[in-house]
Amino acid sequence: MAIILDGKKLREKILEQLKIKIDGFYRKPSLVVILAGDNPASKIYVNNKKKVADRIGINSQIINYPSNVSEEELLNKIKELNEDSGVDAILVQLPLPDGISKENIINAISPEKDVDGFTPYNFGRLFSGEEPNVYPCTPKGVLLLLKEYNIELEGKHAVVIGRSNIVGKPMAQMLLNNNATVTVCHSYTKDLAQILKTADIVVSAVGKNIVNGDMLKQGCVVVDVGIFKDENGKTRGDVDFDSASKNAAYISPVPGGVGPMTITSLMLNTVELYEKG
Ligand code: NAP
Repeated sequence: MAIILDGKKLREKILEQLKIKIDGFYRKPSLVVILAGDNPASKIYVNNKKKVADRIGINSQIINYPSNVSEEELLNKIKELNEDSGVDAILVQLPLPDGISKENIINAISPEKDVDGFTPYNFGRLFSGEEPNVYPCTPKGVLLLLKEYNIELEGKHAVVIGRSNIVGKPMAQMLLNNNATVTVCHSYTKDLAQILKTADIVVSAVGKNIVNGDMLKQGCVVVDVGIFKDENGKTRGDVDFDSASKNAAYISPVPGGVGPMTITSLMLNTVELYEKG
């Protein structure tokens, strides 16, 4: 049976250390989250982020806008926050309402306050193998989890399923920067099962049930980023946990794996931006 990559346990360990560090700062680091529209999942994510921030002494603020907010209004607010020396970190919760350009909004965030690492400056530095101000939260959380369990990346074949800017692409690049040999799969990939059979490490970020134990190499490491609700309203990951944990040496559960690590990375990134500022 596979060893569980326990994101909740690691979250608690990191947050405890981070709280002690923040207690020693002369002022609280500050995180501002912009939430536009009324996407129910986004509201839950944003409130969870605030709860964790408050718990460890990060000063967090959620700015809510209705779904008919204009792009100009959001851009003006970002400009104001960029210029506010009391704000260390800015996060714009995605997705944005229809008609608002995600690119224009993200590009407006100062790279020094870009807590998600999504601005072209930070993304560009990541992809050119240089240090960005901070690394994108979800892939950073995945790497922290692998490191905690002493999982070697160098020379390993890592297969990333999904190629979004939020997870798949930065994940693949960060694995590459850690000297893994990386294959990226997506909806046009032919014979995913054959590719997975050669994977030492699998990171799945799709949002549907796509991986089962038969597809996996014996002794591999499986990190499940995906989250969706099944027909019974139960939270699921991309990977069939029961069959996969028979073949894998390590596996992350959903919930309790990558999710807690994403929030943890957000807190770490906020503190890193505060320290750099
Ligand atoms: P996304 O933008 O919808 O991207 C999904 C990716 O999956 C796309 O690249 C798509 O390929 C690929 N895909 C779809 N069907 C496929 C198939 N049959 N075979 C192989 N690849 C396939 O989603 P995302 O934002 O990256 O998020 C992915 C999942 O992770 C979601 O469930 C999301 O909720 C979850 N997530 C979790 C966390 C966390 O903290 N745990 C954080 C972020 C996201 P194409 O590019 O070809 O369309």
